[in-house]
Amino acid sequence: MNPSPKKAGEMARRAAYTKVERSNFSNPDHVEDKTFRGFQCLNKDCTNFLFIKTDTIDPDFEYPCGVCGFVHKAGETTILYDYELKDTRDDSTIEQGSFEILHDDYVGESKEYKYCIICGTLKPFELFGIHRRRSTGRQGECRICKQVYNGIKNQTRLVEQHREASQKRRLFTHFEDRSKMDVSAIYARFDNCCFKCGLDLSGDLVAGVAQKEGNLDHTLPVFYLWPLTTDNATLLCREHNGAKAEKWPGEFYTDAELRKLSAVTGIDHRLMAGEPQFNPAALSKLEDAEFIESLFEKFARYPQELLRLRNRILVQTGFDFLDVSARISPDWKKQADALMT
Ligand SMILES: [Zn+2]
Ligand SMILES: [Zn+2]
Ligand SMILES: [Zn+2]
Repeated sequence: MNPSPKKAGEMARRAAYTKVERSNFSNPDHVEDKTFRGFQCLNKDCTNFLFIKTDTIDPDFEYPCGVCGFVHKAGETTILYDYELKDTRDDSTIEQGSFEILHDDYVGESKEYKYCIICGTLKPFELFGIHRRRSTGRQGECRICKQVYNGIKNQTRLVEQHREASQKRRLFTHFEDRSKMDVSAIYARFDNCCFKCGLDLSGDLVAGVAQKEGNLDHTLPVFYLWPLTTDNATLLCREHNGAKAEKWPGEFYTDAELRKLSAVTGIDHRLMAGEPQFNPAALSKLEDAEFIESLFEKFARYPQELLRLRNRILVQTGFDFLDVSARISPDWKKQADALMT
């Protein structure tokens, strides 16, 4: 038999022949692959959350709070205030009574939860993938644990990738300025449409107010430390937002689009069409020794993104923010230089 020639897709296929062996794993006894109903204790002074195993729920229930002792009981009510129903014409009282919640209604509407059999935490049901053959109808492990497992099995190093993305997001927040952003004004500026394809995004507006920032793109990218402000935002649909990502506008838009974008945002056309440039305001922030020291304190554990930023700025502008403070250890320079390729 001839071995089949190697093709693209070989990597993906290899996953079928790998298996993950586990050691140093245990679950405490309370972690069961069963569903629970969860609700907060109805005693307003108590913040305890109660979880009741779904298959033990009895129409004649009685659930005492483990913290304050308040009893949630079938047929009982909790009074929240006393009311008087009045006739507005002559202010006469029609009826008096208590505003009360029936415990059956309260427990009955509670949401379902399940333990993840890997991380051992109780999570809302919808955070587990569907698995029809299991008694719970859901997978035993939560979506995060499943992703991490698949990452190991397929050798995609998922946690490292996510950590890098998270460190990058954390680092870039230090250069953002949310006070200069008016989301609804940005939508209006782009007529509520994706600037690239014209897709109607007015569904993001409720009564004229934009509800989310997910479709806003940094026109001049945060990768070069440009903050997301009203003037630096482009409205893009999900697909085009993903395609634009960290690209400089000149690498993503046609020249006609750049001219139009310049007219809408006021950003200089030559800046957008030219070579990528770091935000000068951010660079001057990086000349402040205290700011640099605070960044190194925050990113001491996972400094890669900060060091990569130093390298990018150094290569492009010749400015080395590792020279700004005498209190920064020279070891960082060695580490940063080692990351240069
Ligand atoms: Zn309680
Ligand atoms: Zn989990
Ligand atoms: Zn689009």
